[in-house]
Amino acid sequence: ILNEGLEKLGHTEKRCAVSPSSVKRMVNRGVTVVVQKNAGVLSGYADADFTEVGASLVENADDALKETDLLLCVNQPEEAVYSQLKANAIVVGHIDPFFQQSLVESLAARKLTTLSVEMIPRSSRAQKMDALSSQASLAGYVMVMQATTHLPSILPMMMTPSGTIKPAKVYIIGAGVAGLQAIATAKRLGANVLAYDTRPVVAEQVESLGGKFLKIDLGETGQTKDGYAKELTDEQKQKQQDAQRDAIADSDIVITTAQLFGRRPPQLISKDTLALMRPGSVVVDMAATSGGNVEGSEPGKVVTVNGVTVIGTGNWSQSVAKDATDMYANNLYNLIDEFFDDESKAFKLDLEDEILAGCVITHDGEITNDMLKNAYQGA
Ligand code: NAD
Repeated sequence: ILNEGLEKLGHTEKRCAVSPSSVKRMVNRGVTVVVQKNAGVLSGYADADFTEVGASLVENADDALKETDLLLCVNQPEEAVYSQLKANAIVVGHIDPFFQQSLVESLAARKLTTLSVEMIPRSSRAQKMDALSSQASLAGYVMVMQATTHLPSILPMMMTPSGTIKPAKVYIIGAGVAGLQAIATAKRLGANVLAYDTRPVVAEQVESLGGKFLKIDLGETGQTKDGYAKELTDEQKQKQQDAQRDAIADSDIVITTAQLFGRRPPQLISKDTLALMRPGSVVVDMAATSGGNVEGSEPGKVVTVNGVTVIGTGNWSQSVAKDATDMYANNLYNLIDEFFDDESKAFKLDLEDEILAGCVITHDGEITNDMLKNAYQGA
């Protein structure tokens, strides 16, 4: 387990791929766990928390990599790291495979087996391993928190002798895992919440959280066989932007969480629409670091566009790094647990299993995932 808390690409990763609890469970199964020094510090865990439950520490990852069978990462490993692994070692992490073709090709060329957590199927059986969901839930909460700290007003209604404050209006675009948690969080803080998603099936979920679902008739929108949104036609995109303009203009906070699996996220809010909002209103663009739902948002930054604060911080879950680490570590432990062979004390790579067939993207010198191969060919 690497210490990934180094300044990289303008941000410091605070999360760690294991928690003391996940290490303890791995050690109990007979796994030898080696953790790089300070790997947990930024998520609230000291080295001693890991050694107390049976892990050993290394100062430098190089000391352990040649012996490693399974490398657990939060993000993509760097070449200096994976180039030291032996053939057939397994690398697990957020690989972002659709947008990291050269990395994936390089991992395949080195005969490493890569397990991309983004590709874990969204099935009932795989729910406990679903890192996209665990991190997206936290992101939904964090985005509301970040919005409130920039908004010059409060969210709940307040009736006092000095006057009555009306509840803030929050509009959430995209009601998947992150959007639903953002709705719940904003409701708990007393806001009036409106939400929209191109998948009409989520209207009921929005309403069960106390939100109102904005009805926009886009005709057939549908979803993929895995439950992801399909890309809209240009006409549908325009219709959506026109239909939600008034809702955006009337909101104190807008949070955009719209994603398209394996593609760049759709742009949903133009600068002209931002200009209709009251000065000081806040927009949070969850997708800022991967292309952006909002025109003018900047990855990793908080900027002002036409008088509106636009938050594009990204990597949201790491601002609650302890919970993010605990949940991610549980996801990885559950994955190991599901495929652990107690006799050989090794990860059993059953590529016929539907979970591994989905998330193993390189093996034995090949890129093994058809969706990725098609995406790379089309790129
Ligand atoms: P996601 O991150 O891919 O997208 C976020 C949301 O944005 C989705 O709800 C999507 O419909 C929506 N969206 C896309 N384009 C939009 C647009 N133009 N305007 C408004 N909204 C738009 O989604 P996710 O949160 O990862 O969830 C993906 C799917 O997987 C959902 O169907 C979800 O219910 C399902 N899921 C299933 C499980 C499970 O069964 N284990 C776990 C998690 C998620």
